[in-house]
Amino acid sequence: MILDAKVINIIKELIENPKRIVIITHANPDGDAIGSSLALYSILIQEKHHVSVITPNEFPSFLAWMPYSSNIMVNKHNKKKVSEEIKNADIIFCLDFNDVRRMEGIEEDYLKSGAVKIMIDHHILPAVYTDYAITNTGTSSTSELIYDLITGLNKKHLINKAAAECLYVGIVTDTGSFSYSCNYEKTYLIIAEFFKMGIDGEYIHRLVYDTYSEDRMRLLGYCLSEKLKVFYKYHTAYISLTKEDMAKFNYKIGDTEGVVNYGLSIEGIDMAALFMERDGYIKISFRSKGSVSVNDIAMKYYSGGGHHNAAGGNSYLNMKETLAEFEELLPKIITYK
Ligand code: 5GP
Ligand code: MN
Repeated sequence: MILDAKVINIIKELIENPKRIVIITHANPDGDAIGSSLALYSILIQEKHHVSVITPNEFPSFLAWMPYSSNIMVNKHNKKKVSEEIKNADIIFCLDFNDVRRMEGIEEDYLKSGAVKIMIDHHILPAVYTDYAITNTGTSSTSELIYDLITGLNKKHLINKAAAECLYVGIVTDTGSFSYSCNYEKTYLIIAEFFKMGIDGEYIHRLVYDTYSEDRMRLLGYCLSEKLKVFYKYHTAYISLTKEDMAKFNYKIGDTEGVVNYGLSIEGIDMAALFMERDGYIKISFRSKGSVSVNDIAMKYYSGGGHHNAAGGNSYLNMKETLAEFEELLPKIITYK
């Protein structure tokens, strides 16, 4: 993968002297959004920039051990400060998303800001809302793109162990611990460099994956035993969770991370979905195997998007209607490219 050299040169010039820099992730940030942002943060602060990492809402507690994560500003809790940082920014990096709607609550400040705006992302079909973009769908993660960017800027020497840990978390979580989007030799060569720097991959894996609360574990059990519906004829399985279901298990952000994938582990199932009731809408996560494009489905029916095999969107019907509509759509949407 070759990054657009022109954009790299522009970034190189932009960051030659200390600047006010804002890094924004998408709402409900995952390991890649947080990992890529904190890694970029760590490089930029070493060069004396004033840097803020901003998330629209909270990030999951299983990422709270990450280096620099205590410096993250959550817009939901710091609206005034976030507004100021965005207003006064010279440069804004948008990491791991390609649609301004995924900023949930930050869009207005963002669109008003006169900063130079740069998107770095690996999703399909970027919407144009930045001045510059580094986008590539043929990579494991935004974290890998950040590694490429740092290398392209001739700043690889600034990747310390903490930055390597952040990038590693992004790559591990966005590939489902190396089970998808990971058929690239380069990804493993980069990771080998992180291990040379002394990162502890086994320990990081335990911090990210073996830190469930009892409630989270029981919620997973409930999803699988009570809420999973399987449609063998349409190679589809889905789980739905109402607010009531979530309240029973003291739901916290991040508690359903990974739940959607279980449906795909059933033999013969090529598409899995998770429907979650939120305030005024239903959030849907899709996963698929092989040639079934959930990106197409999320874009066409649920004003969303993502990747070929992992995408998301929203429904503005209530849960019952959303599920009825989805079941009706099934014969039509499960197509193999
Ligand atoms: P998840 O199911 O883990 O929330 O998201 C799966 C993938 O789809 C991620 O790459 C995420 O960025 C993308 N995605 C999730 N929800 C949306 C959405 O509402 N709109 C768009 N464009 N992408 C989404
Ligand atoms: Mn990502």
